[in-house]
Amino acid sequence: MARLTVITGPSGVGKGTLVGQLLERHPQIWLSVSATTRAPRQGEVEGQSYFFLSRERFEEQVAEGGFLEWAEFAGNLYGTPRQPVETQLAAGRPVLLEIELEGARQVRRSFPAGFQLFIKPPSLAELERRIRGRGTDSEEAIQRRLERARVELAAEAEFDAALVNGDLQQALAELEGLMELA
Ligand code: ADP
Ligand code: 5GP
Repeated sequence: MARLTVITGPSGVGKGTLVGQLLERHPQIWLSVSATTRAPRQGEVEGQSYFFLSRERFEEQVAEGGFLEWAEFAGNLYGTPRQPVETQLAAGRPVLLEIELEGARQVRRSFPAGFQLFIKPPSLAELERRIRGRGTDSEEAIQRRLERARVELAAEAEFDAALVNGDLQQALAELEGLMELA
């Protein structure tokens, strides 16, 4: 597989679910833990789901050049801590980033040899069902995520490959194939 893989797709499409299963099957892959100013959702663990930072602390890290990429998404800041990614790549480990569109564009500039994969929902209606079914977001957050989904879906052609997360096991098999893991 490529040394650096980026997975992008609208919120609620099932990126986290797919990546979780991928890592269980391929524990050699190192998944970057992002920083965010978003509040933790129920069950999220500091340092595993995200590093949860205040906006002030996040902005300090931006000023220090501490992020490989960062972006604002639905009113919150998200960024990939630079140092751990560089350490893992230097150690020869395959690195996976699960980030939104603006971040993927930044990484495309700094790592043009990376592999960028876009995950699509079967339909916008199914995407909305999944976001609501997850039961973690306020109505306002759901609306912002759906608005952003339309922008992200229009950018599919920028990516090296795309797959539809319809049936989860089928999508996982396709993901393994595209990442040359199968
Ligand atoms: P993302 O990380 O892209 O925001 P999640 O992994 O949190 O998305 O998934 C959003 C919701 O959709 C979750 O409730 C998850 O269980 C569900 N989901 C994920 N993949 C599928 C699938 N292939 N079919 C049906 N539901 C799915
Ligand atoms: P959520 O709030 O649902 O966990 O994530 C919202 C969006 O932010 C998702 O599209 C997710 O991929 C993206 N995201 C998570 N971490 C990062 C990051 O470090 N950088 C960028 N640019 N996006 C991120």
